[in-house]
Amino acid sequence: MAFPEDIAVNLAAVRRRIDEAARRVQRDPSGVRLIAVSKTFPAQAVRAAAAAGHREFGENRVQEALEKIETLRGLGLSWHLIGPLQSNKARRASAAFSCIETIDRVEILDKVNAAAAAAGARPRVLVQVDLAHEDTKHGADESAVSDLVQRAIASPAVELAGLMIVPPFPNVPEDSRPWFRQLRELRDRLVAAGVPAARLRELSMGMSHDFEVAIEEGATMVRVGTAIFGKRTPPAAPGT
Ligand SMILES: *Cc1c(COP(=O)(O)O)cnc(C)c1O
Repeated sequence: MAFPEDIAVNLAAVRRRIDEAARRVQRDPSGVRLIAVSKTFPAQAVRAAAAAGHREFGENRVQEALEKIETLRGLGLSWHLIGPLQSNKARRASAAFSCIETIDRVEILDKVNAAAAAAGARPRVLVQVDLAHEDTKHGADESAVSDLVQRAIASPAVELAGLMIVPPFPNVPEDSRPWFRQLRELRDRLVAAGVPAARLRELSMGMSHDFEVAIEEGATMVRVGTAIFGKRTPPAAPGT
């Protein structure tokens, strides 16, 4: 983990790069939100980022996240779930996360909607899309996205806000561009087909190695871990 003082410096550097990438394509930098991915790092790392003014964090494992959320209660932080959600954790996840970015099938959408209704919560949700068909990756097939979007809109206890993607790991940042562009084009087609634009406003795409390319292609949320908190050791286990 980076030292607390380095976390503040790293955050400022990432924010500056976000600004520059947005300006390169004539976008307003305030239209890009930085989700600081704190998975595998202790609550103390999140505290350092919060002390530097950061408020939005991403976690990929529900259990690990719940512990940090509890420890850091009172700091006014909001949390995004960016890893796969198992049905048996839907209830606790629905109440704890302000945004669940990994809705990729009807079964989990229905679980989250029911759990959120029972908890009196209304989390934002994103539909995670799989465009590259990698065995190891989660996400809805492109052909299933439209139905999932319609069903999310019809689910009263969730607020559909957009789409999310984790493309194949790039050798160079430019490798990710076609995937980011395809996600944006998929969103545009859904809106052209009648989905209210406000329901698909967010595009969550881009990580430490390619967030600038993602911003150039229209990302409204970038999920950045390593560039803020340092290298993960050991690497994050696959999500629960
Ligand atoms: C870990 C993770 C990130 C952050 O990755 P970095 O390369 O450390 O920036 C972003 N999105 C998802 C879904 C992740 O699991």
